[in-house]
Amino acid sequence: MEKLILAKEGVFPVTKDWNGRLLEETPKTGFQMPGTIQGEGKLAGVPSLFIRFSGCNLRCIWQMEDGTYSRCDTRYASFQPNETIELDVDEVVDWVRHNIGNIKHVVITGGEPLLQRRGLAELCQKLKEQLNVHITIESNGSIFNEEVATWVDLFSISPKLSNSVPNQEKLAVFGLKENTVFRKHNQTRHNLDALQSYINMANNSDKELQLKFVVGKKSDYKEILSDFISQLNDCKASDILLMPLGATKVEISRSSPMVLDMAIANGWRFSPRVHIELFGAKSGV
Ligand code: SF4
Repeated sequence: MEKLILAKEGVFPVTKDWNGRLLEETPKTGFQMPGTIQGEGKLAGVPSLFIRFSGCNLRCIWQMEDGTYSRCDTRYASFQPNETIELDVDEVVDWVRHNIGNIKHVVITGGEPLLQRRGLAELCQKLKEQLNVHITIESNGSIFNEEVATWVDLFSISPKLSNSVPNQEKLAVFGLKENTVFRKHNQTRHNLDALQSYINMANNSDKELQLKFVVGKKSDYKEILSDFISQLNDCKASDILLMPLGATKVEISRSSPMVLDMAIANGWRFSPRVHIELFGAKSGV
């Protein structure tokens, strides 16, 4: 059996651990029950349990239209994956089983879950076969794996634009030192073969796809067209979503009008970030 390395929240929000023992702490949602809602994309508002994988092959730092910067909002699963939980796949399945209640949707997120593709495939298969839940995978789209994809219902892919590249100026703002992952970010982030595989698989099955672009600058629009949409075959407009950049309500409200304008003009969807509206910029919700 494969092992999985999860970020500090593991399965969340929950009231029981993987052994079914009641936790002393109330979930960060403030509710005395497990579960939250999906905050983004086509399934925004749908009750869900989340599983957060640790580790990412990218290091996103964006610049907003007004010149300010915004970093990945789950740095504890990407930049600094210090606090992790290592469990067998069966323990993670049990953790979901003890908390799933009437919830039908499980969202696997990160970090980048596809970095642990063997364990991820086993997890998805067991979640499907034992609990029959709807599975969403949230990925940056730099990796495709057919075995994993077989068990997934919604590919929620968020390809990263050049505005996410952590250049020297951005690193200096946050006092970060360059390392191999920072250096490789630009070449890793843009994998058209992987994106085309997701599109093909969704178009030839009953699986769903959303290409969710995080937008912070007006110039992002041209790049979405030139570097992604025009390079991909059979990408449906209804599968393209634009989401305002920002890890806080204030940042999101700054970029939302520009992103709405872009979405409406192109017949693409605007994705809200409902969980930030409801719970603020905290983890575990
Ligand atoms: S790909 Fe996602 S998890 Fe990884 S650094 Fe970028 S925003 Fe964070």
